[in-house]
Amino acid sequence: MEGGGGRGRRGKLMGHPNRAAVFACLFACFFSLTACAPGITGRQGFAMDTVVSLTAYGKDAAAAMDAALAELAALEARLSVTRGDSEVAKINENAGELVSVSPQLQSILETSLTVSRQSGGAFDISVYPLVKAWGFTTETYRVPEAEEIAELLPAVDYTKIRLEGQSAGVAAGMAIDLGAVAKGYAGDALAEVYAAHGVRSGIINLGGNVRAVGEKPGGQPWRIAIQDPYKDAGNACILEVRDANVITSGAYQRYFERDGVRYHHIIDPGSGRPSDSGLASVTIVAAGGAGAMADATATALFVMGLDDGLAYWRNYGGFEAVLITEDGAMVVTPGIADQIRDVAAGFRYSVADGK
Ligand code: AMP
Ligand code: MG
Repeated sequence: MEGGGGRGRRGKLMGHPNRAAVFACLFACFFSLTACAPGITGRQGFAMDTVVSLTAYGKDAAAAMDAALAELAALEARLSVTRGDSEVAKINENAGELVSVSPQLQSILETSLTVSRQSGGAFDISVYPLVKAWGFTTETYRVPEAEEIAELLPAVDYTKIRLEGQSAGVAAGMAIDLGAVAKGYAGDALAEVYAAHGVRSGIINLGGNVRAVGEKPGGQPWRIAIQDPYKDAGNACILEVRDANVITSGAYQRYFERDGVRYHHIIDPGSGRPSDSGLASVTIVAAGGAGAMADATATALFVMGLDDGLAYWRNYGGFEAVLITEDGAMVVTPGIADQIRDVAAGFRYSVADGK
C-alpha cells in the first residue's frame, strides 16, 4: 500500500500572487502544452518516480520548461537503477569491475561518498539490496526475515565504492541506487537549463524536492511549504527563500503497513531496517548549486536523528535545516530562523544552539 499519496506531496509551493489563476493555468498548459498567459507558464509530468511540477516566468519560459523536461528525461535515463541501460545499471551489472561514467554521475558519486564519510555511513547508496528486499523499488512491499537482512548487510559498504577519474564501480556482490541524491542534483541541472533560456524566476518541484529559482517576479522571496509529517494535507511551516534548494526526507513520503506496523523507505544501513531515529522529517535548505549535497544530507540526518544531526550541522555546515521529531518538536538552525513563517499550532518550536 502506498502511504497516503505520499509521493509528490512535499514542499508545496505557496503564496503565489494569484494562486488560483496559476493553478488553472497549469491545468490548461498540461493539456495544451502551450503558454497560456504572456510570460507565465507551467508544466507537470512524472519522472524519477515522482510528480514533477515546473513553473517559469519570462519571455522564453515555455521553451525553458520544455528543455528542462527533456533534460530531466535524459538524467533519468542515465541515473535510474531500474532502467537496464542506465549508467547505474551498468555499474551494478559489472560489480567487481570499473566502468566509465559521465561527468554527471562522477559528480553525484563524489557528493554521495563525501556525505557517507561525514555521516559515518548513515547515508550509503549501497544500501540498495536492502531497499529492494523491503520492496521499495518495485512497490511489492514485504518485511524480510532477520536472517535475510543479516545476509544482505555485508554488501552495504560505501568504502567499497570506487571512483577513479572517469571510472567507477562497486565490489562484487554490491549494488547502488541514487534515489536519495539524484533529485537534488536534477533540481540544479534544470535550474541551469532555465538560466540558459534567460529564465531568472521559477520553481522546479521534483516530488517536493524544491529548487526555487531567483525570486518571485515582484521581487519577493518564494514561499515554500514544509509538509506537516503527521497530516495527509497541511503544512508544518513556510520557508521564505531566494535561489535555494529546499529538500525534505520524511517517513511519511513512502511507506507500507503490515500487521499494524508502519515501515518507511529510508533504511538505516546499520540495521538494514527502516530508520528509527525519532525524526519524522528533515528539511535541508542550501544554496543553488548544492542540491545533491542537500538531498543526501536530508537522508543522512533523517537516519542520524536530532542530536547527531545537529552535531553534523555544527561540524560541516554549508546548509540550514528544519528537523521535526516524532513527538512534535520543530528545531531549526539559526541561519534560517528569520525565514520561517506560519508555524502550525501544536509544534514545539525552537532554534538550535549555534556552532
Ligand atoms: P530520500 O527521499 O532522499 O531520503 O531518499 C530515499 C530513497 O533513497 C529510498 O527510497 C531508497 O531508494 C534510498 N535510500 C534509503 N535509505 C538510504 C540511505 N540510508 N542512504 C542512501 N540512500 C537510501
Ligand atoms: Mg535525500
